[in-house]
Amino acid sequence: MKKQILLLLLSIIFLFKGCGDVPPGGETQPPADTEQNTCAPENHKDEGNDGYCDVCNEYVIVLVDFYTLNDLHGKFADGETHIGVDEMTTYFKNVQATDQVSILLSAGDMWQGSAESNNTRGHIVTDWMNALDFDAMVLGNHEYDWGEDAIKTNAEIAEFPFLAINIYEREDNTLVDYCQPSLLIDEGGVQIGIIGAMGDCYSSISGDKTEDIYFITGSRLTDLVKAESNRLKTQGADLIVYVIHDGYGKSSYGGSTSVSSSALSSYYDSSLSDGYVDLVFEGHTHQRYILRDTSGVYHLQSGGENKGLVHAEVAVNAANGKHEVVTTEFVSADTYRNLPSDPIVDELLGKYENDISDALRVVGYNPTFKNSTVLRNLVADLYYEAGVKMWQDSYNIVLGGGFISVRNPYELPVGDVTYATLQSIFPFDNDLVLCSIKGRDLLSRFINTTNSNYFVSYGRADESDVIASIDPNGTYYIVTDTYCSTYAPNKLTEVERYTPGVYARDLLADYFQRGGIN
Ligand SMILES: [Zn+2]
Ligand SMILES: [Zn+2]
Repeated sequence: MKKQILLLLLSIIFLFKGCGDVPPGGETQPPADTEQNTCAPENHKDEGNDGYCDVCNEYVIVLVDFYTLNDLHGKFADGETHIGVDEMTTYFKNVQATDQVSILLSAGDMWQGSAESNNTRGHIVTDWMNALDFDAMVLGNHEYDWGEDAIKTNAEIAEFPFLAINIYEREDNTLVDYCQPSLLIDEGGVQIGIIGAMGDCYSSISGDKTEDIYFITGSRLTDLVKAESNRLKTQGADLIVYVIHDGYGKSSYGGSTSVSSSALSSYYDSSLSDGYVDLVFEGHTHQRYILRDTSGVYHLQSGGENKGLVHAEVAVNAANGKHEVVTTEFVSADTYRNLPSDPIVDELLGKYENDISDALRVVGYNPTFKNSTVLRNLVADLYYEAGVKMWQDSYNIVLGGGFISVRNPYELPVGDVTYATLQSIFPFDNDLVLCSIKGRDLLSRFINTTNSNYFVSYGRADESDVIASIDPNGTYYIVTDTYCSTYAPNKLTEVERYTPGVYARDLLADYFQRGGIN
């Protein structure tokens, strides 16, 4: 009898509780005859891989669109030979508004190369990337042109992370604090892992700018990327995207081209394509291609300097993580050239007006058209001339010049010359420097070099006379810049820096101020 009363009491209590909230962990199954509810995204199942959840029948394919820009080199405002980013901004905003998930990435070398970017140390470009909600940027070699402090300041401004798995501090062998190795993006029910790396670009950075750091390259980089890929997958990544500031050496303008592992081997270990990396965005070589490696993984690069961007669309099954690249395309600047300008570019030009306006001044007049070869020979002449003026009493200077590279627009038309134009062609902040060198090294590194980027000047002397006078065991003096002098294979010993500090563009500005005559 007592037992029956107890059972009755218990069932009353249970009934009473049942009228209120569902107890935690309690069953929430809907009655069988009502419409089926959608399950939580993490509970979707699609064992048959038909694109529909086995439990709730919802469509579980998510389209993820990746857009990557590489080597913008500060081409921010409209110039004589290039368009600015105002139309590209409109293009990005349009796709961001219509895509299910769009991811915006940069493969590096964004800042160096124009008056508006150089004179703001890249801040104008970083601000623009913030406005567009870039997801991540991989550092390129030219991000180091102004030293690590400029990168750190940009990192403070950036509302997106800088990625590089392989840039380490010499002092304690840790990753530099302004980079993170990867990023896990959780959007639209899918998780996307992005791993970034600097390529083997040592020789493209002035040695004095990288004294405190080193890049891990080759098989050790491969090991790092594989470990990071595994780690991201453990955290739930459905897809791994690898962005590296290095790339293939040739353009292939058409559709996707098959490429052998050996053709990629200078910068990419094809074993990464065996399940570690699903899509690769590249940069640095300024080439334009869509390649498919032997494992079927796509490699894309957009050419640089605002000639376009690359786009890949990946269909990801949110229930089982299976994915497939469904579209790859090169979006040429012609695609967005005629779109309306977005006001952000003018807004930012206004914000930084004080930094930029000085560079727009006319420095002089150019009386004859000069292509890049003429300009580089001219810089070698000016190095020699400036060096002789400064040091002629103490040193017998044999030549001026060195590894002299130029950037878009690569040439100078007849007419007024602004400092900004010279800054676009010679954006590098490499100081003029007097160096000593052994005769044999002078002959092999500077005189008989087969590297087409080496330009030298002997002033009024004849090259054959200079060569005849060089004793391989003797010591000679040359005037070059710090980019050349800090490159170890050149075997140069720095004697003295030119004061006050001048760069190639400053010597040119002075030259055109004199009317373009030596
Ligand atoms: Zn570049
Ligand atoms: Zn580069």
